[in-house]
Amino acid sequence: MRHALVCGAGGFIGAHLVRRLRREGMWVRGVDLKAPEYAPSQAHEFVLGDLREAAVCAAVCDRAFDEVYQLAADMGGAGYIFTGEHDAAIMHNSALVNLQMLEAARRAGVGRIFYASSACIYPAHNQQDPDHPDCAEDSAYPAAPDSEYGWEKLFSERLYLAFRRNHGLAACIARFHNVFGPEGTWSGGREKAPAAICRKVAEARSGEAIEVWGDGEQTRSFLYVDECLEGTTRLLRAGEAGPLNIGSAEMVSINQLVAMVAEIAGKRIELRHVPGPLGVRGRNSDNRRIRARLGWAPSRPLREGLEKTYAWIERQVRGLGGV
Ligand code: NAD
Repeated sequence: MRHALVCGAGGFIGAHLVRRLRREGMWVRGVDLKAPEYAPSQAHEFVLGDLREAAVCAAVCDRAFDEVYQLAADMGGAGYIFTGEHDAAIMHNSALVNLQMLEAARRAGVGRIFYASSACIYPAHNQQDPDHPDCAEDSAYPAAPDSEYGWEKLFSERLYLAFRRNHGLAACIARFHNVFGPEGTWSGGREKAPAAICRKVAEARSGEAIEVWGDGEQTRSFLYVDECLEGTTRLLRAGEAGPLNIGSAEMVSINQLVAMVAEIAGKRIELRHVPGPLGVRGRNSDNRRIRARLGWAPSRPLREGLEKTYAWIERQVRGLGGV
């Protein structure tokens, strides 16, 4: 039986990944500071532990796992990353986790280790034009991310690549672009745009207005979690160092996103634009490299994933829970 270790298994993507790896027949250990919020972990073993500590990393990475997925990070949506209030914690906590986990993985002689980087590493100046953002992998340098979260991700990418060069550790890196889906954070301040909008629309009555940060013309693409996992496992199993974008190339403005969710909900929704943390003006995944390297790229329409996510968030808003 093949063995996998999922770091950040209590988080949104990690919890989905554990479920997927189990379905594939792997033995899975998950580790996180917290258990998954919305459903019990499907891991064979779930360890509550702080991966900033070397001893915890060594204890959970106690064998030559075939696959290690390092998804743990101090993280959140624009309301968490772009206000500046959490910068020190984000950099310190996430860098420590990566430093300690890599060393533990090296010592244990793991087969492959995946690292989840982010589209937030791309220079802000290449993302001013909402219609033509440049997120080709090579455009990362000269570096100029617009958040400390992005700088930490860039540092850690380099750390994984250095371990690959100097220690022969098979590190594989992806840059995720706005992943969403059921069982993602949907309230409380760390939620991202698709979840926040689904919640606001679910809470609104038809004809009411919901608040949108900025003028709503900023563009993004959003990737449904199942396709994120497909790309993640493909990248690791190909042994591809990357970094490769894993994201959707279906770019929409935030106003268009609201319109799509309103249509799914069957409600007429007005928009009230208010000041708020925004991030870059435009961002889209450039999938040329992943297609060339893996012969695959995300392709499902945004609407499909939004329908599933809206249905789940609407249940949470009504207090019904469930997954
Ligand atoms: P998440 O916040 O739901 O999951 C991260 C998990 O890491 C959390 O459960 C958290 O408790 C855990 N964690 C943080 N510090 C820890 C520590 N010291 N020890 C143990 N666990 C710790 O985030 P997610 O959306 O599932 O993202 C997973 C990874 O993908 C993260 O590295 C994130 O930066 C990256 N990423 C996500 C997106 C996205 O849109 N979701 C986009 C780009 C990159």
